[in-house]
Amino acid sequence: MEGDTIAGIASGMGGGIGIIRVSGPDSFLITGRLFRTKKFIVSSRKEIWDDSFLLKKESHTIQYGFIVDEKNEILDEVILLLMKAPKSYTCEDVIEIDCHGGALVLQKILKLLLKNGARLAEPGEFTKRAFLHGRIDLSQAEAVMNLISSKSEFALDTAVKQLEGKLSKYISEIREVLLYHMGEIEAALDDPEHYSLEGYSGKLKQVIGELLKKLDFLLDNFDNGRMKSEGIRTVIVGKPNAGKSSLMNLLLDEERAIVTNVAGTTRDILEETLKLGDLVLNLVDTAGIRETDDTVESIGVKKAVDYLNHADFVIYVVDISDSFNEDEKEIISLLKEKKGVILLNKSDVETEIKFDLSPFSVLGWKQISFSAKEGIGLKELEEYITELFIRGDISYNDQIYLTSVRHKEAVEQAKVSLEQVVLGIDDGMPEDVLMVDLMDAYSGLGLIGGETASENLVNKIFEEFCMGK
Ligand code: GDP
Repeated sequence: MEGDTIAGIASGMGGGIGIIRVSGPDSFLITGRLFRTKKFIVSSRKEIWDDSFLLKKESHTIQYGFIVDEKNEILDEVILLLMKAPKSYTCEDVIEIDCHGGALVLQKILKLLLKNGARLAEPGEFTKRAFLHGRIDLSQAEAVMNLISSKSEFALDTAVKQLEGKLSKYISEIREVLLYHMGEIEAALDDPEHYSLEGYSGKLKQVIGELLKKLDFLLDNFDNGRMKSEGIRTVIVGKPNAGKSSLMNLLLDEERAIVTNVAGTTRDILEETLKLGDLVLNLVDTAGIRETDDTVESIGVKKAVDYLNHADFVIYVVDISDSFNEDEKEIISLLKEKKGVILLNKSDVETEIKFDLSPFSVLGWKQISFSAKEGIGLKELEEYITELFIRGDISYNDQIYLTSVRHKEAVEQAKVSLEQVVLGIDDGMPEDVLMVDLMDAYSGLGLIGGETASENLVNKIFEEFCMGK
């Protein structure tokens, strides 16, 4: 598979300039068959075109000219970027054709390349080749995909760091320590006369303790990383008519909000994405859950509970123009242990009733005097969320984050194995038994960079890529 030459449209559709990427051993020859220099065109094409023209050019140079079709008619005016192996994105001979961005032009040029010997690239195949040639590891390849789909500054920043190899380095340092100690044990087991393991397990325990701390650091930050890159799962709750939908509209009506439906769910209408500075909130309005469900209310409640279980943050809307009723008690009981804020809504309504706030104090949440109708308290709400998630517990810079569930699972697995090593040491297990768990941790962590990943896993990851990347 790696022997052939692939081609694909690398740019998004619709721009003024389009890019087609060709990669593989014959990319210079294949592109050379369709390319003509200006000089050749001007010379009224009396000579015969030399298909190997591009092969004779230096790497990392630019060629200006035209693409011609089978009838030698000019199809487009182009610039070619020539990159010879291994100094290219894929580590192979690569040509990028900068042409005009219209979909038809791009398709026509691509078709010509395919007719002349290239094969259509599969999604992610260029990046996959970079991985197979060892230019980037698997986590860096995934970072490329994250980079393309980033919807917040944080996601972008994390993806760039991961692409630079910061996560790979962190993980490979841990693996190197493991490898070193596995080597020590192996040597001692092979040659007991010269190597002694006397007192070794105490030292090993200490080392493993340090490594476990490093893994914990990654795991502790996983939720923060996920929330910042994918968005904070925010659920709006409150009894019927408290003003949940009005709040949702208020939040989303602001021009700065990006209002997109979360793709791939059947509950699109309920989930909206809101950008708040550097933060992304994935908002779920539980009022919507009831409205779309024509069966009994309890199902709506069950769904709301489901959402609550996965929520990072809850916005509890309380109608203070009404008197306190039993519904609130039920809601409060669902919210214990959660992080959230209480909006004392409809504060604009003049009323004689003195609303009793004492039942809410069990939650220990901040309360904000609010009006979804007038927009009162909106700024305070936004500042509070920003404070909580950005300035609060974590600093942005230079931190390594795990944002992928796949990476997190690998780290968790490795942690379990290393904990087994510690238990083994405490139980006085022989070193060859410890080796099994050390090895598991070593290969488990290797899944992140792909060193120990199966072909299936690798294929699965690249299948999720977009075309041309
Ligand atoms: P939901 O059932 O919780 O989604 O509540 P809605 O957002 O549909 O609001 C119920 C009613 O309360 C509507 O008539 C809203 O116009 C009204 N309402 C919502 N928020 C406020 C507010 O802050 N002040 C006033 N006066 N009315 C509000």
